[in-house]
Amino acid sequence: MKNFYVPPQFEVVRDPQRCVNCKVCVEQCPNGVHRFDETHNRMLADESKCVDCQRCVAYCPTHALKIEKNRCTLRESANWSSDAVEEIWKQAATGGVLLSSMGSPKELPVYWDRLLLNASQVTNPPI
Ligand code: SF4
Ligand code: SF4
Repeated sequence: MKNFYVPPQFEVVRDPQRCVNCKVCVEQCPNGVHRFDETHNRMLADESKCVDCQRCVAYCPTHALKIEKNRCTLRESANWSSDAVEEIWKQAATGGVLLSSMGSPKELPVYWDRLLLNASQVTNPPI
């Protein structure tokens, strides 16, 4: 779909007073967010790929970077959260099902923290 735009979840905020165009962030970002624009001699960012891992922030030698939660999100209603609307938009635009591995972005109970490991079997007879 042409001109399909969903506001990114995170904003890359680069302080131009601190940035020295060293391109360390280009090398360190696992998602290819940062790039150097040779024509205009400046750093750019494709924020739609950012996952807020903070790696570029940690490696930036001049502390020029901040990753902030984007305040420009899709409007919520009583029935639809902005997350749900965003996922539907993306699936409609790409025709794909959005899957991710490891962890959950939603608030779910951590059942591991509620387990009681009972070591009674080490006694004979069991307690
Ligand atoms: S690592 Fe920091 S100083 Fe270097 S280009 Fe990126 S933002 Fe600029
Ligand atoms: S926070 Fe992570 S994903 Fe986002 S720009 Fe920095 S290194 Fe890339």
